[in-house]
Amino acid sequence: MPTSKQDFFKFVESVPFIDTHSHAAGMDTGTPVDDKAPLTLAQIIFFDYLTYLAGSAVDDIKVLDGLAGTMDKAVERSYAQIAPILDKYRALSTWRVMREGLRTLHGFEGMEINASNFDALDQKVRAKYAELGQRAWLRSALVGSNTTLQNQMVTLPYVTDHYEALSYDERRAQQAFLLPSLILDGYLFSGFASGTPGRLRTLELLNAAMGKYEDYLDVLGKALDLFKARGGWTVKLLIGYHRSLYFEEVSDRRAEDLWVKAKGTPQRNLHPDEFKALQDNLCWHLLELSRDRGLGLQVHMGYSYPTRNTDPELMMNVVKSNRLQGLKLDICHSGWPNHGGAMVMARTFRHTYFNFCWTPMLGSSLGRRIMSEAIDIVPSNKLLIGTDCATAEAFVGTVALLRSEVSTVLWEKVEGGLITEETARGVAKAIFHDNSIEYYGQSVLRLPGVQG
Ligand SMILES: [Zn+2]
Repeated sequence: MPTSKQDFFKFVESVPFIDTHSHAAGMDTGTPVDDKAPLTLAQIIFFDYLTYLAGSAVDDIKVLDGLAGTMDKAVERSYAQIAPILDKYRALSTWRVMREGLRTLHGFEGMEINASNFDALDQKVRAKYAELGQRAWLRSALVGSNTTLQNQMVTLPYVTDHYEALSYDERRAQQAFLLPSLILDGYLFSGFASGTPGRLRTLELLNAAMGKYEDYLDVLGKALDLFKARGGWTVKLLIGYHRSLYFEEVSDRRAEDLWVKAKGTPQRNLHPDEFKALQDNLCWHLLELSRDRGLGLQVHMGYSYPTRNTDPELMMNVVKSNRLQGLKLDICHSGWPNHGGAMVMARTFRHTYFNFCWTPMLGSSLGRRIMSEAIDIVPSNKLLIGTDCATAEAFVGTVALLRSEVSTVLWEKVEGGLITEETARGVAKAIFHDNSIEYYGQSVLRLPGVQG
């Protein structure tokens, strides 16, 4: 029963989405307990990516100071102040999803956000955040975009301190849809700023000291137990931003010697090669402990500089090792620009998955090309997708883009006579919904999902 392109697109929109990659529920540590600050339009626009890339576009980015990652108070910026940067972004897909999310959620006149509509839109944004608060606002955006469950990258205090700080009802509402993923970098003495307080707080929560090497391994296992007991689902490595993803299998004997020499501060007391060797050893243990607890591994791959540090094939020894058999690996961001190797891995190894997250929002033409290739090459149950956004606005724009790009790519194959429409529907349903259940396990279905 061949239908129309329009029917097919509608079908794809009707598939409940499980978002496998997100930061929208308060970044690594959670939203403030009182989450009703009247956040400004400039703050939402420059909450993450559009600030990160500003240094490549203009000489002076001081005007953006205090906008990224700040959600506990309103930060004011006028249109005139941000326009010189915004004007460089007008053609970027990363801007387009933000703009379209703002249009869907708040509404504005005309094609672009400019001097004539900025202030009116700013008022609407502030009013919405002040009325609902960040958490309820995100939940309503999830319902509106037919998203049932959503990953959240976190440090351990998110599922302990942050959850506990919320009222009973609010906590239940958040736990109903969130799939927390524990960022491991801090336990490896590396990564972004939240990793160190995350590690220190872990020691407090477990009433433990850094101690001897074996004691630390014990802490790592207990941290994962606590994370899982508080509703954790996966673990995450972002460490490719800071070093190579090649983790050598360093002996425990060598690691123990290095641990003694490190005296609790390996980054200071060890030579860089020794530091890497200790990290390598600890990482293998962390991955083994995660596998034993059924926690899948998500790895930031591809986008970073230099890109060779995050080539998915650097983790081939991990994927092929008997020691880590059964560990599910989610290759994030398509591994682009090393997506070819990522596809070969997902096509070869049972527990390796190819995740489109971020790719279409980074560049919609890139996303379309990579999706089309991956659908041709990788078995359909091995493809995952996620938004990788940090605000409800960018999230809504990105979900709409993901659905339309997957629809376009699949419909092209139907029209070209390459696959049947029935197959195309099956692949779309697999990408947006079914494959997440394979990746997370059937037990994920016990979660009630987001309630409006
Ligand atoms: Zn991310």
